Amino acid sequence: MTETPLAAADVVVIGGGVVGAAVFHELADRGVSVLLVERGRAGLGTTAWSGGIVRCYHDDPVLTARATVGWRYFRDFAARTGIEVPFVESGFLYVPHPSWLAHARAAVVEAAGEAPMEWLESTEADLRFGHLLNAPVDGAVWEPRAGYADPIDITRAYLAAGRAKGGRVLEGVEAGELLRTGGRLRGIRTRSGVIAAERVVLAAGADTPRLLDSWGVPHDLWAQAIQVELRLPEGTVKDHPAYMDDVYDVNGRPDAESGGMLLGHPTGQRVDGRAGGLPADPDQTRRAVAAGSSRFRWAAESASLGTLRAAECYASDPSARVAPVPGETGILLATGFNGGGFKMAPWAAGEIARLVTGDQTGVQTGD
Ligand SMILES: Cc1cc2nc3c(=O)[nH]c(=O)nc-3n(C[C@H](O)[C@H](O)[C@H](O)COP(=O)(O)OP(=O)(O)OC[C@H]3O[C@@H](n4cnc5c(N)ncnc54)[C@H](O)[C@@H]3O)c2cc1C
Repeated sequence: MTETPLAAADVVVIGGGVVGAAVFHELADRGVSVLLVERGRAGLGTTAWSGGIVRCYHDDPVLTARATVGWRYFRDFAARTGIEVPFVESGFLYVPHPSWLAHARAAVVEAAGEAPMEWLESTEADLRFGHLLNAPVDGAVWEPRAGYADPIDITRAYLAAGRAKGGRVLEGVEAGELLRTGGRLRGIRTRSGVIAAERVVLAAGADTPRLLDSWGVPHDLWAQAIQVELRLPEGTVKDHPAYMDDVYDVNGRPDAESGGMLLGHPTGQRVDGRAGGLPADPDQTRRAVAAGSSRFRWAAESASLGTLRAAECYASDPSARVAPVPGETGILLATGFNGGGFKMAPWAAGEIARLVTGDQTGVQTGD
């Protein structure tokens, strides 16, 4: 590389969404020389459209453990970063599919003492949440201390905290070509100049598959649309938790700001990868409202307050891609969260920091 670099760092993070920002902060916190480049304004990609729900239960105990790292982190955000961002404790209700009931009940028992969740038998679930439900449930997972945080505020706070710890952020700078010499990574090219670095963390969300293609790196990632409706119920809906229901495939939470309810339903639609918002699909809105009405009393008579649709990076299994790229010295991936990357960001940041520094302690869990 003969050009005078625009900047240099040991690690360059590409992408200023919640994942890149969390990685940036974690590396800066550990004294790593780190620089983050963001094509636009940080936090305004897919992260800006996120519900920010942070819950622990997952069907896979490994994912439950990772999400629990996130839950602890976001509840304790000010102590970790020095910046206050409120965590709204709405509680979280998960309704498993009947075929998964025994598994979910056993998973709650297995996670006892690690993750803050309890099992509700059908009658108990009905007693607590029957006023919301259109159909009885056979059993449910209840997380009274789960909730949500504002994803844009969290992302900007991560960046501010990382800067205060010595990291640098360049906004409006798009990473392009990878620069290599003799198979060794030397940096990245941007329109504003070259950034010298021996390690790159690719946290470009839905842009990741396209970037990897442009670098000639094989992968199994794609961009997929997530669409969430913002619905205004007709009357007052009291004591509504954040929720996920695998019987009717709906998820969401109350939205204190608008007084509405977020209501998501999987799209299964692959899209051209670009992090951030997409035009709403009215057929998907109809499907979501129909599915939501099967589960909740308030959904059928609710009015639209808008639709949030954005592209997310998906991988062929739900365990995310937070790892070195095989055969590619110096490139680490932090993506492929299949729609759950907000809650997983603190875990991903700890994992990347472990890979970069060799420090086995990972992100502090607060234990
Ligand atoms: C509607 C919706 C609701 C969701 N709700 C939840 C939820 O409740 N809980 C949850 O855990 N998850 C949720 N998710 C998922 C979560 O929001 C995402 O997994 C997460 O925000 C992804 O963050 P990211 O940093 O990987 O991607 P992004 O936020 O998209 O960040 C990637 C950034 O990279 C930048 N970039 C791309 N290419 C380049 C380049 N070449 N150079 C420089 N910068 C580049 C982009 O501009 C972008 O800012 C939801 C997603 C959607 C769409």
